[in-house]
Amino acid sequence: MIHFIGAGPGAADLITVRGARLLGEADTIIYAGSLVNPALLDYKKPGCRVYDSASMTLEEVLSVMDETEKAGGVTVRLHTGDPSLYGAIREQMDALDERGYAYDVTPGVSAFSGAAAALEAEYTLPDVSQSVIITRMAGRTPVPEKEKLSLMASHGCTMVLFLSTGLLEEVERELQEGGYAPDTPAAIVYKATWPEEKVFRCTVGTLAQTARENRVTKTALITVGGFLGDRYTRSKLYDPGFTHGCRQGTEG
Ligand code: SAH
Repeated sequence: MIHFIGAGPGAADLITVRGARLLGEADTIIYAGSLVNPALLDYKKPGCRVYDSASMTLEEVLSVMDETEKAGGVTVRLHTGDPSLYGAIREQMDALDERGYAYDVTPGVSAFSGAAAALEAEYTLPDVSQSVIITRMAGRTPVPEKEKLSLMASHGCTMVLFLSTGLLEEVERELQEGGYAPDTPAAIVYKATWPEEKVFRCTVGTLAQTARENRVTKTALITVGGFLGDRYTRSKLYDPGFTHGCRQGTEG
């Protein structure tokens, strides 16, 4: 059996209860060492074999899974954040399907949730934005043409950029091409939920400069939009005048 598990964004106690339990059952753990907190390995049982996938190819990962399967053991494949985002799990699951191995997926707290917590912010504010675009700047990994950052930016909604900290000049340019004013609020969140977490609030026009001045080159998310500003309207849900399925309002 192979369990794909979301490790959470950094802090070791942000893994799910299920994820922690399955880690304790593993005979083999393959973890993404560049981003997963090694403190999570404290959950492992004695004798568990541990591999850091940072320097491994897909084929090498699969061959470790093969070995454990043939010995009748349990493998945990531990991915940072939630495995469904930039986790490269589909190619692993397809290879496991070919081999006829059973697997399941345990979700995790994604870095974009960790970043919102670090910012003490709400991505979806009434009258500001009701959508979050999670995307990345095209780099060595291309992005489909229709998802070019300037096109995504044309919605003017809340945006969270993964894997883009090294490309902030281009990010600034494309965000502005898409319609964000240079003074639109933005923030760089470095290592959200880790002890070394840092939040740098800036604007769309100062993203590259802010990263440069603070020497942030990786393990950061870029967040953009009016949700980082002061203006919003209060929710209908908790408005005394508003009636909904669970409460009679004072109006109408
Ligand atoms: N599956 C992960 C994302 C993996 S892609 C998730 O759901 O969070 C790796 C990228 O995620 C990094 O380059 C960085 O942009 C971002 N990232 C991962 N952990 C982070 C953290 N704690 N703080 C800020 N960004 C993080």
